[in-house]
Amino acid sequence: MPDTSRQIAAAIGRLTLYWRAASWQTVAERGLNPAQAEILGHLARRGPARQVSLAAALGVSAASLSDSVASLLAKGLVARHPDPKDGRAVRVALTETGAALQAALPEAPAPLLSALDDLPETEAGAALRALSMLIRALQEARAIPVQRLCVTCTYFQPYRHDDAAAPHHCGFVDAAFGDAALRIDCADHEDTTEERRAAIAARLAAVG
Ligand code: SF4
Repeated sequence: MPDTSRQIAAAIGRLTLYWRAASWQTVAERGLNPAQAEILGHLARRGPARQVSLAAALGVSAASLSDSVASLLAKGLVARHPDPKDGRAVRVALTETGAALQAALPEAPAPLLSALDDLPETEAGAALRALSMLIRALQEARAIPVQRLCVTCTYFQPYRHDDAAAPHHCGFVDAAFGDAALRIDCADHEDTTEERRAAIAARLAAVG
């Protein structure tokens, strides 16, 4: 592994440690653990879900997910409802209390968001593009659950425009955008084919 890759891996490890410690404290103050907070966040972003889908999306075992959901049910933060598509199945959904608590949770530690806000836009865009590529590669390697990234989306058209500030195009909203607006979890995402995902990655890597 080249030294640069080791340094980046070490940096990601440091940031992960910091994020985990800061998040643990923040969610513990609200009577949650990080796994429970993740479930609330996922339900807020994507709506009600079956437990099997939740476990797959969050990359945890069915048993672990079941324990976390049981705890959230006991706290009145989620509830089970029949799945409208299948009366025999149930979905987990946020309660009003759960939605309010989730909305009050910070998306990330404030010092980290502040440091990111201070990055020049071109560097922030380059970082977001590099992270999108890393997440895509881990997804292709089946190391993490499927994510809703621009770089794996059927609507994403990389470098369609000559404008250096906004070279990409989103076919869903029919608008140009730059690296700094790449999405990591887009509600309008539609997964494209494996062949096209590879072509998009090659195109982004070629431009650098
Ligand atoms: S629909 Fe969302 S994920 Fe797809 S290209 Fe547009 S902004 Fe990106």
